[in-house]
Amino acid sequence: MEIKSLKPGTNAKLHTKTGDFECVILESPNPEIILVKLNSGYNIGIRQEDILDVKIMKGKESKKEKNKPIKQNKNLKNIALVVTGGTISSKLDYKTGAVKWLTDPEELLEFYPELLEIANVKKITVPFMKASENMDYKDWKLIAESVGKLCNDSSIDGIIVTHGTDTLHYTASALSFALKNLNKPVVLTYSQRSSDRASSDARLNLMCSARAAISDAAEVMLVGHASINDDFCYALLGTKVRKMHTSRRDTFRPINAEPLAKITPEKFEAFTSYRVKNNEKTGVRANFSGKVALVKFYPGQDPEIIDYYLKKGYKGLVVEMTGLGHVSTGESSSNWIPYIKKAIKSGMTICAAPQTIYGRLHPLTYSVGRELEKTGIIYLKDMLSETAFVKLSWVLGDKIMSRDVKKNMLKNYAREYSDYIKVEDFLN
Ligand code: GLU
Repeated sequence: MEIKSLKPGTNAKLHTKTGDFECVILESPNPEIILVKLNSGYNIGIRQEDILDVKIMKGKESKKEKNKPIKQNKNLKNIALVVTGGTISSKLDYKTGAVKWLTDPEELLEFYPELLEIANVKKITVPFMKASENMDYKDWKLIAESVGKLCNDSSIDGIIVTHGTDTLHYTASALSFALKNLNKPVVLTYSQRSSDRASSDARLNLMCSARAAISDAAEVMLVGHASINDDFCYALLGTKVRKMHTSRRDTFRPINAEPLAKITPEKFEAFTSYRVKNNEKTGVRANFSGKVALVKFYPGQDPEIIDYYLKKGYKGLVVEMTGLGHVSTGESSSNWIPYIKKAIKSGMTICAAPQTIYGRLHPLTYSVGRELEKTGIIYLKDMLSETAFVKLSWVLGDKIMSRDVKKNMLKNYAREYSDYIKVEDFLN
């Protein structure tokens, strides 16, 4: 087979002098070089003369029929999709090798019609299409409002939010706090490979998300691959989850908590107790403040960073502290205590979260921590720093809760604190 005759978009297996590659052929500006996208997501160029054999693989092609109504089966439960962007909402552009947004969100169902064997997709809402690193607290509000509306729509049994992975755990926290009296499952999911790729993790994630969305768990759950195999997913608590790998499909791990459930496309098997589906009216409390920052302490860091935020009118700071809850109290120029005292006196809230990610802060163990504790820092025990950042923004943005920030930061609203951390929860 003449490699030159392969059309961009063809899935192929190339046997070359430097190895074998499963890939998608891309458009190449240089006829001597064959540009391909590997299953890992990387694009590489291979010299024509180095290709020894080519095998065409069956690929997924979108057979788009405009405005075709989504197939409904009256024996199945109904779900809604809230589509916000990210890799799961994108497909490969064979010209550039980069991924671009799906032309319309229904395309997702054309790539994964299996989803419709688990549940009917009754509604699709698109508050915006963004890469998740471009989102901020205003987007959390928009997503919370879209989801809140669907919670109070009695024709919908559960909701799936599709989202980019980079900041998905922030949004999962934001929804966990913002949705009050949750009455049905709210599932956040993603993919690490675009939805048109044969190797995409979207298929299993979407099918398991649909299974979670028709379960009786009225929880905000992040659902995705439990391992690098395409076999089952975990449902993870929205406040106890973090992206832990740049590219693995099981990138989201539970932190200081166990998974809420194990899910296959056929079964939702809970590990922990959960809030059960109910007829309450779900409220939305989502006036997040934009005047909150997350700062990571590092050796030798200039404490003037606190002054910087104070001058800019920030109302709250979460500091990722070292070890059991420490920052420098050393030589005068690097002593954080006077800066912290000044900021707190000026009305700023300063919270501490563990930079180790796993474990719990214990500020009173060392004398350094005791001194720091006296300044009025709020130590957030085992709360993830990202969750703490979202929660502080939520508390400070709310008229009533901001009257007693400390009480509200320490109150366990959405299982953001674990009373007990099991040994096996570490790197689970
Ligand atoms: N960085 C983009 C995002 O987080 C794409 C990556 C992804 O979805 O995994 O939305």
